[in-house]
Amino acid sequence: MTSSQSPQPAQHRPGSEPGRQKLDPHIDRYAARTAGMTASEIRALFAVASRPEVVSLAGGMPNLAALPLDSLSAQMAELVAEDGLVALQYGSAQGVPALREQICEVMAMEGITAHPDDIVVTVGSQMGLDMVTRLFCDPGDVVIAEGPSYVGALGSFAAYQAQVVHVTMDDDGLVPEALREALAQANQQGKRVKCLYTIPNFHNPAGVTLSVERRAEIVEICAENDVLIIEDNPYGLLGFDGQTYPSLRSLDPDNVVYLGSFSKTFASGLRVGWVLAPHAVREKLVLAAESATLCPPTLNQLVVSKYLATHDWKGQIKTFRENYRERRDAMLSALEQHLPAGCTWTQPEGGFYVWVTVPEGVDTKAMLPRAVTARVAYASGTGFYADGLGSRQMRLSYCYPTPERIREGVRRLAGVLESEMELMRTFGSVTSRAVSGPQFPGPDTA
Ligand code: PMP
Repeated sequence: MTSSQSPQPAQHRPGSEPGRQKLDPHIDRYAARTAGMTASEIRALFAVASRPEVVSLAGGMPNLAALPLDSLSAQMAELVAEDGLVALQYGSAQGVPALREQICEVMAMEGITAHPDDIVVTVGSQMGLDMVTRLFCDPGDVVIAEGPSYVGALGSFAAYQAQVVHVTMDDDGLVPEALREALAQANQQGKRVKCLYTIPNFHNPAGVTLSVERRAEIVEICAENDVLIIEDNPYGLLGFDGQTYPSLRSLDPDNVVYLGSFSKTFASGLRVGWVLAPHAVREKLVLAAESATLCPPTLNQLVVSKYLATHDWKGQIKTFRENYRERRDAMLSALEQHLPAGCTWTQPEGGFYVWVTVPEGVDTKAMLPRAVTARVAYASGTGFYADGLGSRQMRLSYCYPTPERIREGVRRLAGVLESEMELMRTFGSVTSRAVSGPQFPGPDTA
């Protein structure tokens, strides 16, 4: 959608056909921008994939089993008993000051020097993504993003009617030359590129990491072209060897908006993340946060703050890393052992995901119902692109299941792929039309 598109007359609105109208009597009332808001494929998948008989390699839920629940619950009780009138009250729109200071210490682990004044605490980094898009993107503005990219970010960009242009990655992350080309092409087409959205570390979904050499180059390209960088870094401390990389923000503090989160390093359900903005942006960001939530939840912020002050949080991250490394190893060796020839995959050195490419002719979206029937689920690649690519790819998550379940899931997946390829050899390309599988149940029927 472009900025020249104005709201359409009611009878022509997207989705306002008579059948749809019956389903939703409000269909003609929605703002034009809602046309881009569709349920992600991954959300539809969650309901089916969470059945116990299905090995889900689809979702990206952090594995929280190693958290010290007893001491955390004692601490939470203490917080309410001793500080309840603060913890249960509204707080500052920008977030609890003590927590913002602690966030500076967390970010220092990745080379960032920041002032607590430039941090805005958010309800997960997802809220940060929403706010930053709201602040910077008009309908039709271009956001450049890696292809594939994080589903939740694509959702935010669609909600604000920004146009996503994907640039390719290789094993060293985003390819600078591809970025240059995308910028030149957008320029030629008279489009305004506002931002580069990037996940430099242990990418979701690609599992790759941007090489150190490329970081400076990408920062430079963006500065030269007047393009703001949105650096999304929820996995940066989950390198399996404890390795960290210089953040883009540390290379150009004035042109990078940095998104951080406690979802992967502590507890996703607390929904505590943050934005570190260039100083000049901070005020608008606080206003945007205020209009979204008034203030982030005080109790949850105090829980995180107390946890950071009293627990060995670095030791806890190390434990998480070890758990994820064991699962990554189980997945990679199972892929090596079971997947048919012609499949390739990335080799993540941290984070949660492996990105698999299947042989030409196999369509991972069409294959999914057959995989679920075989009791394994994955996220098909098309959900990670704004432009329909990804049908030969899938994301496999190793973060949540046990290593045994991961091995079993990959074994089942390999069986499905084998029979898909057998059908392909017999009948040519396999699509949902060519081979009927069971109806894939949506969230309502699961
Ligand atoms: N960015 C990326 C790349 C993610 O993978 C996720 C969660 N899967 C988020 C942002 C959102 O994280 P949260 O809102 O839990 O902080």
